Amino acid sequence: MEKQVIITGGAGFIGSHLVDRLLDEGKRHVTVLDNFHANYPKAVKENNLARHVGNPLFSIVEGDILDEEVLDRIFSGSEGKAVTVVHLAALVGVRPSLDNPTDYHRVNVTGTLKLLEKARMARISHFILASSSSVYGDLKEVPWKESATDLKPISPYAASKIAAEEFTRVYARLHGLNATVLRFFTVYGPRQRPDLAIHSFFRKIDQGLPIQQFGDGGTQRDYTHVDDIVTGMRGAMDRHLQGPDEQGAFDIFNLGNSRTVALRDLIGSIERQLGRKALLEVLPEQAGDVRETHADVEKARAGFGYSPVTELADGLADFQRWLTASDLERSAD
Ligand code: NAD
Repeated sequence: MEKQVIITGGAGFIGSHLVDRLLDEGKRHVTVLDNFHANYPKAVKENNLARHVGNPLFSIVEGDILDEEVLDRIFSGSEGKAVTVVHLAALVGVRPSLDNPTDYHRVNVTGTLKLLEKARMARISHFILASSSSVYGDLKEVPWKESATDLKPISPYAASKIAAEEFTRVYARLHGLNATVLRFFTVYGPRQRPDLAIHSFFRKIDQGLPIQQFGDGGTQRDYTHVDDIVTGMRGAMDRHLQGPDEQGAFDIFNLGNSRTVALRDLIGSIERQLGRKALLEVLPEQAGDVRETHADVEKARAGFGYSPVTELADGLADFQRWLTASDLERSAD
């Protein structure tokens, strides 16, 4: 049977890397649905997908996951095909969610629910939801395991991801939809969103501008290279799907690197990479930020052989190569 993958948010940072991987494999038709949200410039997102324009296995629909007519259009071409939906479209970022909780709810919860409803009516084969380490919130016992039942979210973004996870679970139980939830841990690499720490630190340190360090530099993050995340998503797409009678398969997996790095050490690594000292502006810790994120990835390892391989130093060098090349490209335009 012909295979199709529908990737919502596929023009963004993580989604465009998945598009690259799937089209390089050349075995499936890939449809991207993205509204080019203004969280960063449309031109950057278009550029993320530029090399695939004209590929007969690729199509892009500019539209909103909240628009049911757009969703009908996306699914209308999928009759008779084995369709996987990888749902990455979302309002992203923890801190802005404190100012816009209702927008986060509308896109991340209602948007996911509309997509689930259309997906189950179209009888798709597999629904994969991009969730986040932020669902664990303030949970003290690290490394975090998917079996944790006392999630302690501390931002509207995190709450919206938990709600999206739970609606996905309900669709598996109620409608027999096969579904997988993937909780990503601080993803970095080429095309990283400009609002995220590694991207913004590289640019500012390089330009001799001060960087903002929130807190004492001791907050820890489990930085995960986007290539490892994409390998994890590919593994999850191929995982064995078997739900209980009449129900769909449903499972949740962490995709992290399973090694934590303190903020001050991250800054030190970027300084070494750039050969330049950072000008530090130390500010109080921010509401919504957790002290530490740390993934236990044993379940993904056992489930589909997930095994992250990228060391932070190599990943930062890779990021710098991309940043330099993309700046050169832009200045040549
Ligand atoms: P991104 O902003 O680069 O990509 C998200 C894409 O979704 C964008 O291209 C945007 O235009 C699109 N989008 C937003 N609202 C939409 C809507 N209503 N309809 C259609 N498209 C819409 O962000 P990213 O970092 O690639 O994140 C992808 C997913 O991974 C998100 O669900 C995010 O919550 C999740 N995630 C990311 C990280 C990370 O570290 N980057 C960590 C945990 C989870």
